Amino acid sequence: MAGFNTRLVHQPKQGDNNTGAVAVPIYKATTFAYPKIGAEVKYDYSRSGNPTRNAVEEQLASLEGGSRAFVFASGMAAIHAALAIFEAGDHIIIGDQIYGGTFRIVYQYFQQRGLEFTAVDTRDQQAVAGAIKSNTKAVYFEPVTNPLLQVTPVAGIAKLAHEHGLLAIVDNTFLSPYLLRPLEYGADLVVHSATKYLAGHSDVSAGAVIAKDADLADRVYFVQNAIGGILSPEDANELARGIKTLFLRLDRQMENVLAIVGFLKKQAGIDKIYYPGDPDLAGYEDLFKEAKGAGGVFSCELDDGVYDPVVFVNSLQIFGLAVSLGAVESLVELPSKMSHAELSAKEQLAAGIKPGLIRFAVGIEDAADLIADIDQALAKAKR
Ligand SMILES: *Cc1c(COP(=O)(O)O)cnc(C)c1O
Repeated sequence: MAGFNTRLVHQPKQGDNNTGAVAVPIYKATTFAYPKIGAEVKYDYSRSGNPTRNAVEEQLASLEGGSRAFVFASGMAAIHAALAIFEAGDHIIIGDQIYGGTFRIVYQYFQQRGLEFTAVDTRDQQAVAGAIKSNTKAVYFEPVTNPLLQVTPVAGIAKLAHEHGLLAIVDNTFLSPYLLRPLEYGADLVVHSATKYLAGHSDVSAGAVIAKDADLADRVYFVQNAIGGILSPEDANELARGIKTLFLRLDRQMENVLAIVGFLKKQAGIDKIYYPGDPDLAGYEDLFKEAKGAGGVFSCELDDGVYDPVVFVNSLQIFGLAVSLGAVESLVELPSKMSHAELSAKEQLAAGIKPGLIRFAVGIEDAADLIADIDQALAKAKR
C-alpha cells in the first residue's frame, strides 16, 4: 500500500469513470438504474450509497486503517451515528473534557432515550476502571482535548476497555489521521468533525465514523442508511479536495504554533501555555508515545491583572474572532465568553477555564505576521 501522504492525494478510483478525469466526478444522481430485475448493482439509491461519497469514505478508511468509513453532514451527525449503535440500558464512560456538543447530545438526547453515561478524566486509568459497571459497553474520549489540550494515550484505554469487553471510541478531530491513527493503538471506532482539519477551509460541514472491523462497520452503516444524515456529493467532493493537502497544512500550522509559543514564552504576563507539541509543556511525553504532533490549536492564559483578555481578542487583526479550528486561516476565541459560555463561572473554573484563557487555532499564514498581530494586541490590552 502507498505511503500516507500519497494516499491523501490519490482518491480511490471509482469504477465507472471512463473519461480519464483525474478527480472523482460529483455524482448528483439520487437513483441508479438496474440493468434488469435481479441484477447485482453497487449503487441503487444515494442515501444508501453514492460514488462521490463512497470515494471519500474508502479514502478515510484507508487513512485511518479501518475496514470501512462513513461520512455524514456534520461531526455531530457522525457522533450521533457512533452512539446510536447502543441500546437503552447500555452505559458509556465519556471523557470529562469532551466537545461541548457531544456533552449536549449525550445528556440531553441519548440519556433521555435510556443510555447511561459517566464522565471521568480519561488521563486517569484508575478512574476509568472504577467507572466500569456490569452494563458498560464503551469508553468514548478525545486523545487531545479542547481548550486545555489534555492528552490521553489511546493504547492504555483501549487495552482496559478490551479487558472488560468494551469498545474504545475515539474522537480524533484534534489530531487527524496524519498525526494519530487511533485504530492502530487498539481503538474500535474513530469519529471526526471533518469540518475541521480534514476539510480544512472553513467552508464544509462534515463528519466521519471509521470502524475497525466489519461487524462494527455494519452497525454504523445501518444507522447511516436508516437515519440518513449523509454528506452530500458536493460536500463529499470538497472534503476530498481538502484532504489532499492535510499534511502540508498541518506541518505549516504546527510550525506556526511553535513559533508563536516561542514568542509568548518570552512575554511577561502570560501565566500558562497549553500545547503538548512543545517539549517544555505538559502532555508532550504522553502525546509523542503515539502521535506525530499536536496540531494547530493551542491555548494560553493571560494574567488578568496585566492584560484585559477581551481587549486582546478584540484587537487582533489577522486572527478572526470565531470558534472552530483546523482551517487555513487563523482564528482566536475566548472560551469563557464563547465556546464555554453556557457554563456558570463556577463550572468554568472547575473545568480549568479562567477568564484570561485564550484559544488559538493557527492557520498557514506567515508566522511573522501572526506574531506581530499578537504583539500589537498584547500592547493594546495592557492594563
Ligand atoms: C467541532 C467538533 C465536533 C462537532 O463537529 P461539527 O462538525 O461541528 O458537527 C466534535 N468533536 C470535536 C472535537 C470538535 O471540535
